Amino acid sequence: MKILMNNNKSFFRLMQICSRCLIFLLILLPITNTSCKKETTDLVKVRGIYGNPKPFWDQGLNLNDLGVNAIFVHSGSIDSSMIKRARSEGLKVFAEFATLNGKNYVDNHPEAWAINEKGEKIEAATWFMGVCPTEPGFRQYRINQLEALLLKYDLDGIWMDYVHWHAQFEDPEPILPETCFCDGCLDKFSNDIGIEIPTGTVRDKSQWIFDNHDTSWRDWRCKVIFEWTLDFKNIIKRVNPKALLGIYHCPWNDEEFNGARRRILGLDYNLLKETIDVFSPMVYHQKMGYDPEWVGENIKWFGNTLGLDNNAFPKIWPIVQAANDPGIILNEEFEAVLRGGLAGKSSGIMMFTSYAVAEDDGKIKVMKKVYKELIEKSKN
Ligand SMILES: [Zn+2]
Repeated sequence: MKILMNNNKSFFRLMQICSRCLIFLLILLPITNTSCKKETTDLVKVRGIYGNPKPFWDQGLNLNDLGVNAIFVHSGSIDSSMIKRARSEGLKVFAEFATLNGKNYVDNHPEAWAINEKGEKIEAATWFMGVCPTEPGFRQYRINQLEALLLKYDLDGIWMDYVHWHAQFEDPEPILPETCFCDGCLDKFSNDIGIEIPTGTVRDKSQWIFDNHDTSWRDWRCKVIFEWTLDFKNIIKRVNPKALLGIYHCPWNDEEFNGARRRILGLDYNLLKETIDVFSPMVYHQKMGYDPEWVGENIKWFGNTLGLDNNAFPKIWPIVQAANDPGIILNEEFEAVLRGGLAGKSSGIMMFTSYAVAEDDGKIKVMKKVYKELIEKSKN
């Protein structure tokens, strides 16, 4: 009987301890959860739209009423009246700058036409026509455009777009050619690396490089892309030092398409994080054939890969898909990708495009809800 009572007592004490533990855990859990959430949302500084703000303004909407605090607009669409109105609504203005897309340029400047491993002029990769990134005339052409843009408008930043060797990564079946084997690129590679490429056809030369210096070739190509960002950074420092340098880029991890982000596109994050203030991975889930959940997973992976310090540059402000292309993006899906784009170490968000949101009341409501939530959370 005594033993039983003791056992009962022990059991009772055990239950008391367990329930205290449970209460403690129940109190602790929300605190831990809140502190994690706070860490993420407090960092969110940019609630953006990508594209012309006109479709909102045409409807009599003010963007600051929708929670937006930044617009990212193609450099050719910016004018003084747009900047004036954006400033009156407290918006930051960032210019998207098409960098290595030479769709019309190569028609008049055949010297800038990128060459494939067979010695042929490359074909457009759907709507994209990458130029040869080492062609000096084209480089100067873009540099002049950038200087003129920075001198004309007081911008908050330049977002480089199409910063990669010729390819198409936005489709479920990407186009990933080997370029560029023009005389200029072969000479520059040969001089920079200090090797002599044997004489022969372009096909012979490219094969010799793949067989003997493939790693150096891939590294060199990444360096060429990095040098574009370095040139841009130096011009910004000189003309408008407070402006940020951002980049829209392919979001693939190191394995996707056999490492094509670095191997074919020439994007090396370790190099780019030296010059880039803000990375904007183009996480267009539907265009690329992914589920909406992929967006958050990708952004978490990217933040860890860059090894970011939350309070320092570079930062991550992803761009997610709102446009109904190729299929319909439902409101819930749009909300899921907006939230996914804010995952991990992201501190900003925008969507492709302003038109896709402005034409759909449901998407306007989703954007406003998510952005107003971010404002509220940042106050707490
Ligand atoms: Zn070339």
